[in-house]
Amino acid sequence: MAKEKKGVRLEHISKIYKDPKTGKDFYAVHDANIEIEPGSFVTLLGPSGCGKTTTLRMIAGFESPDEGEIYLGNEPINALTPNKRDTAMVFQSYALLPHYNIFDNVAYGLKLRKVPADEIKRKVTDILRLVGLEGMENRMTNQLSGGQQQRVALARALVIEPGVLLFDEPLSNLDAKLRVSMRTEIRRIQQEAGITAVYVTHDQSEAMAISDKVIIMNGGLVEQISTPQEAYYYPNNKFVADFIGEANFIKGTVKKQDVVEIQGTEIECATGSLDVGAECDIVLRPEGATLSDTGSIKGCVKYSCFMGAYQDYHVLVGDTLVKIQDYNPKNKKIYNVGEDIFLKFENDTLYAL
Ligand code: ATP
Repeated sequence: MAKEKKGVRLEHISKIYKDPKTGKDFYAVHDANIEIEPGSFVTLLGPSGCGKTTTLRMIAGFESPDEGEIYLGNEPINALTPNKRDTAMVFQSYALLPHYNIFDNVAYGLKLRKVPADEIKRKVTDILRLVGLEGMENRMTNQLSGGQQQRVALARALVIEPGVLLFDEPLSNLDAKLRVSMRTEIRRIQQEAGITAVYVTHDQSEAMAISDKVIIMNGGLVEQISTPQEAYYYPNNKFVADFIGEANFIKGTVKKQDVVEIQGTEIECATGSLDVGAECDIVLRPEGATLSDTGSIKGCVKYSCFMGAYQDYHVLVGDTLVKIQDYNPKNKKIYNVGEDIFLKFENDTLYAL
């Protein structure tokens, strides 16, 4: 459906704002280098204020970078106004025309572009089928549920066949259950339309569920660009490890390539490019270890709670409180508060930073 899948490239992009409190300039986005493949779904992810919306708005043309260049396909676009860029944005607020019906809302952009009426009818009908609003052309948008309004907003952006579709936290006004079903829908529609999508969210599970790649930002800096799996298993740093899923950090020392020492015991652990002898933080995901009567890394149970899918433990290892989720606890030995235990690591789950 899309004319052409376009990639997006940000080269050394920075945006400087003035802090309203201090009056001082600061980098809202600092030296971002981002490459988005044509046809991929990429999510800008990070805590509030990290610069993800500013980055998206610079791609859309609502903000101008102070440094660097943005390319859409091979075309530099810094100098183009938003309506001259081959992008369309889906907003958090939907931004629908309240006194228009669904058909006219979706047709609006095509009418502005002077597309012939019969072609408008065909395109709007096709898109409404794609977003699951077939047969609802005459409903007024102020009579729709939040989820339906979001579908109209998506249809309106898609119908003009942009090279790149931009999403600014599109699901944050929906309730939790609808958010989960709508994100699957957005992913399906993006794949069926075969369009490049850049999506902003601060919800890491949303990002992991829909993205080919995540761009994790913190304080205006891009911390990692990778698949969700790489970010989870091989985070670049403690911030990424902590932001994507839950992470324990256990102090250790690199003994040799892929071996670390914790409490005098050597264990297997991916050490990447760390030097032998380096002090390191070992990333342990809660599902990466279980509790056992025997083993090498000793701990004491401080908290033990049945959660259905897993037994939730807090274990004191040295002076670090380690969170463990032991899945499928039904036929397993359950440890209680105060018991001394050993941690048994799952194969290939430890990663040193
Ligand atoms: P959120 O999830 O809360 O929307 P975000 O990651 O999208 O956060 P941005 O909206 O990109 O963050 O903002 C990045 C930083 O720039 C924040 O510190 C914000 O307060 C600041 N900022 C954004 N717009 C302006 C502006 N027009 N003038 C001054 N500062 C701004």
